[in-house]
Amino acid sequence: MSHRIDVLSWDEYFMSMAHLSAKRSKDPNTQVGACIVNKDKRVVGLGYNGFPMGCDDELFPWQRDGQYLQTKYPFVVHAELNAILNSIQNLEGCTIYVSLFPCNECAKAIIQSGIKKVVYESDKYNGTENNIASKKMFDHAHVEYIQLKETVEVNVKILKGGIE
Ligand SMILES: [Zn+2]
Repeated sequence: MSHRIDVLSWDEYFMSMAHLSAKRSKDPNTQVGACIVNKDKRVVGLGYNGFPMGCDDELFPWQRDGQYLQTKYPFVVHAELNAILNSIQNLEGCTIYVSLFPCNECAKAIIQSGIKKVVYESDKYNGTENNIASKKMFDHAHVEYIQLKETVEVNVKILKGGIE
């Protein structure tokens, strides 16, 4: 019997881990996951969007609208930053897989951590000032960013359906 050929590609495998992590998010509107991988293809960090330790989801708001302190924005830690902070080693030269293109704050953290490549799926904020700022910083810092091909996205979607 020969080996299986329809195995997950590395990109599908790591993006699937990002999606699995996103399932831990308690945000009712946006669930984002991130997976950091080193040069040896070992996972060294996982994260999803959530409140900091000790900040109870029952006490902090997930709302998007209203007065600033009544919204999630001052409190939430994005998936990318959580993955960096949860990582177990120096991230120099690592790749981060993330389901949504990083915001400007996460872009700063990605650059400063030494991560050199961003693999993303959705870029739904493409063209916004925040998104342009992220790309400008990545370009100057020589952080490569590539969108996963459609075929991979389809496979990941099938997987997502499979684990729900
Ligand atoms: Zn962010």
